[in-house]
Amino acid sequence: MRDLLTLPKAHLHVHLESTVRWTTLREIGAANGVRVPGEVGAFGDFASFFAQNDLVRACLRRPADFHRIAYEFCADEAAQGVRYAEVSFTAAGHGERLGDLGMPLAAVLDGLEAGQDAFGIECRLILDHSRRRSVERAWRTLDLARRHDRVVAVGLAGDEAHPGAPFDAVFAAAHDAGLHIVHHAGEGEGPASIRHAIGPGRTERLGHGIRVLDDPDLVAEVRDRGIALEVCPSSNVALGFAPSLGAHPLPRLRDAGLTVTLNTDIPALIGTPLAAEYALVRDTFGYDDPTLAGLARAAVDASFAPTETKHRMNQAITDWLTRPAAPGG
Ligand SMILES: [Zn+2]
Repeated sequence: MRDLLTLPKAHLHVHLESTVRWTTLREIGAANGVRVPGEVGAFGDFASFFAQNDLVRACLRRPADFHRIAYEFCADEAAQGVRYAEVSFTAAGHGERLGDLGMPLAAVLDGLEAGQDAFGIECRLILDHSRRRSVERAWRTLDLARRHDRVVAVGLAGDEAHPGAPFDAVFAAAHDAGLHIVHHAGEGEGPASIRHAIGPGRTERLGHGIRVLDDPDLVAEVRDRGIALEVCPSSNVALGFAPSLGAHPLPRLRDAGLTVTLNTDIPALIGTPLAAEYALVRDTFGYDDPTLAGLARAAVDASFAPTETKHRMNQAITDWLTRPAAPGG
């Protein structure tokens, strides 16, 4: 067994607001007059997850706060062997909350720029929009995305009980503007949410998408169109969308011939960074190194990275796999 920290990885589904170190959150909270409890990270359902999100939002106020969490994201991801990340950020939500629409995104971009140089990682941004929020905010999200070429995609996130259809025109415009589109779908809701995402929603990957298995015809369509799934097993278990890791549908998704990538979604909230997620999958499903390398390669191929980056990463994955495994490792 090879060291999974050194497996070169692309991370496609991770929310910046859910990567903040708790030590950092407490320091930022103290500076901004927000009390962060000592015991955090324990939640058993979507409602308490939203409460944790609210706490993070309340803490983040100054440009330096956003810069810091982006910089530390680069450090923490690089330490996990992540060489390329597409990190989601709810830019317009923070901007509206703070009365300065562009500030949070500008500060995050600066922090990522500094972090990339310092830690040798390449990062792009996905601006997400919660389905619970207004269509007007979705348009503002698109406006922000169009201003910066480090933003590669926009997409819907949040509670899937809220339909995606009201936002179709926004994503048609995003498509016309040359942006990629990635929606959350098939996490809490079933095939209908996926059908909308891959149809009028124009998504190029599925954030989660695990409930595709509810409909064999849909499995065939997603497979034949080569739409990759961003699967986040530990998040699914923590939020109650899968009963346990052992019962997680990941092996069945792979057996169905779907393109499966492995991601963390909310790593700081669940205490599972990406290399640990790979290790959990190895331990739970007995995957060997070529299978784990295949998961890493699928994420590289499904990413919106430049061709040159994809080529370099795939070569590095081959190198990892051809390196002799540590004895007894
Ligand atoms: Zn997510």
